[in-house]
Amino acid sequence: LAERLEDAWKKLRGQDKISQSNIQEALKEVRRALLSADVNLQVVKDFVADVETKAQGAEVLSGVRPDQQFIKIVYDELVQVMGETNIPLAQVDTAPTIVLMAGLQGTGKTTATAKLALHLQKQNRTCLLVATDVYRPAAIDQLVTLGQQINVPVFELGADADPVEIARQGVARAKETGVDTVIIDTAGRLQIDQDMMGELARIKQTVQPHETLLVVDSMTGQEAANLTRTFHDQIGITGAILTKLDGDTRGGAALSVRRVSGQPIKFVGVGEKVEALQPFYPDRMASRILGMGDVLTLVEKAQEEIDLADAEKMQEKMLTAKFDFSDFLKQMRLLKNMGSLGGLMKMIPGMGKLSADQLQQGETKLKQSEALINSMTAEERRNPDLLASSPSRRRRIARGAGYTERDVTNLVSEFTKMRNLMQQMSRGQMPGMAGMGGM
Ligand code: GDP
Ligand code: MG
Repeated sequence: LAERLEDAWKKLRGQDKISQSNIQEALKEVRRALLSADVNLQVVKDFVADVETKAQGAEVLSGVRPDQQFIKIVYDELVQVMGETNIPLAQVDTAPTIVLMAGLQGTGKTTATAKLALHLQKQNRTCLLVATDVYRPAAIDQLVTLGQQINVPVFELGADADPVEIARQGVARAKETGVDTVIIDTAGRLQIDQDMMGELARIKQTVQPHETLLVVDSMTGQEAANLTRTFHDQIGITGAILTKLDGDTRGGAALSVRRVSGQPIKFVGVGEKVEALQPFYPDRMASRILGMGDVLTLVEKAQEEIDLADAEKMQEKMLTAKFDFSDFLKQMRLLKNMGSLGGLMKMIPGMGKLSADQLQQGETKLKQSEALINSMTAEERRNPDLLASSPSRRRRIARGAGYTERDVTNLVSEFTKMRNLMQQMSRGQMPGMAGMGGM
């Protein structure tokens, strides 16, 4: 997979613009990469179409190769589609929060039920587990054993009771005992059948859960999309747990589940033990789907180049005297980033690295500058000279940010120094380290 993207990368290299044709070529490679990560074919097609649109609309930053920019767009889009941030489990004001587990047999529902309870326990949430899988002789025992292991009570009525009734009484018990969250484990089948769906629907109707989590085995591959569609259409899910990610699957199912249902993956299972549950992080999954190490390095490299191009753009701005306080702030943030700093320094011949002390000072200064600049009006930010000539403006800003007028004066003088310095550098005059102290 990584090699394929590397190929796409090479094909794009050395061309100055993202054009219709070289995107087509690269998209084909991305498509192949996603398919080998087990993303559903239709999902791949839709995703690729989206990225294509984005890539064509995107401006290529100067100093960045189109291929780098493109790789970054693919990665960003992948992260965005999968939800950007982790979305935690619901918690309602009036306990108990009711969670219903759904999924095919063997996907890891029962295990995930216990894992989830342990996870919630660590957040000081109390749980009750409810065993409704009356079809497999060992299923109830399995949950009871897991419950003992993590010290969480399990509600069960034996193997002769009606699953819907067990669920109903389980929730009632949770209310009586005042637990925070009740998690209902259900029976699965090896394949989707209407008995299972009917029973799930009835349990859902009866207990009105706040979360219905679809447990999906990440090794399901292509089928994950159809499975998700069926469960979402017939039962309605609010999220998913992707299990068995400790195996060597790439996790393409994550993208399929998200695209098909629009619902977030909330957790991932990474082992058989009860501790082996982690919150789902879209950026990590994106890296995994794109083949981990190698492509991720390309993405990081691209990000670095983009930061660098940003710095170059800024220099142009300074030359034309359009450089203002907002740019100044951006520039300081950029400098704070060690990676970018190293990169920026490389651009300037004869310039060494800043010491740790200087970086620490920069950090403190950045915070202060941010506060001061935030207290400026938009006009003042655009036109720094307004401040040089107006003590009342400087006083107002200082008060607003909780600093002294002197701090504002220093900021203005540093801003001016930086602008002059950058202008000198752009003209090819090298001021050396002494001049960098203020930055
Ligand atoms: P259920 O039929 O959906 O309730 O599935 P179970 O919870 O009984 O799990 C089926 C099998 O998958 C068991 O052997 C579990 O130990 C195993 N399992 C569940 N989750 C994971 C996981 O995240 N990683 C690994 N490696 N195995 C898992
Ligand atoms: Mg089970």
